[in-house]
Amino acid sequence: MKHLTALFLLLHAISIQSFSQITDPKATEVWSPEPRVVTPGESTRPPSDAVVLFNGANFNEWISSRDSGAVKWDLNNDGSATVKPGTGDIQTKRSFGDYQLHIEFRTPATVTGEGQNRGNSGIFQQSRYELQVLDSYQSRTYSNGQAGAMYKQSIPLVNACRPPGTWQTYDVLYTAPRFNADSLLIAPGRITVLQNGIVVQLNTEIKGTTEYIGLPKNIAHGKAPLRLQDHNCLVSYRNIWIREL
Ligand code: MG
Repeated sequence: MKHLTALFLLLHAISIQSFSQITDPKATEVWSPEPRVVTPGESTRPPSDAVVLFNGANFNEWISSRDSGAVKWDLNNDGSATVKPGTGDIQTKRSFGDYQLHIEFRTPATVTGEGQNRGNSGIFQQSRYELQVLDSYQSRTYSNGQAGAMYKQSIPLVNACRPPGTWQTYDVLYTAPRFNADSLLIAPGRITVLQNGIVVQLNTEIKGTTEYIGLPKNIAHGKAPLRLQDHNCLVSYRNIWIREL
């Protein structure tokens, strides 16, 4: 222990000395690489380098998860789309790794059902890891299954829900899990989520697939589509864009 303390003091002294030798402020300026310019979107418009996944015009970026055919959800005339219950999940044609995602959702104004049956949908990162979409406005369910939860893994830090029938936003920062050549998990996925501008998940470790029954699974995968859930509720989406990181 004494030796360790002595070593620490020595290293500390060396580091102070080497820092103290820097007298020019320019010596610690880093000029390269220079971050490229991205033009922020006006109001709710996407930034200049975002991939627009849905802007209300069509489902060109999407397919049915069930049969890889055309999306059967309803395209509305207000720039949104609504789940068509029973037609199944939808997913992007493109696959993604690490990203920033912006997505807006609205649970039905006409409230029906209780708990998990009230405005349920979900946003699956890489088709596997569900960020819950639910009407959790003055509506109780299990905490790790309410809106803003990583389903059955991580309770949201707060309940940031707006009332049913109101548009809400999720802004997601997602780092995909890393697997080695033997298909073993070497670094878990991580997710930060702002709901309506309020942090509900902060650098949360993803434990594996978000299962309804049973424990999370970690099965190696690469880039994968973003997937939206049909949970038999009339949840709507609009203004979906993504920036790969
Ligand atoms: Mg769900």
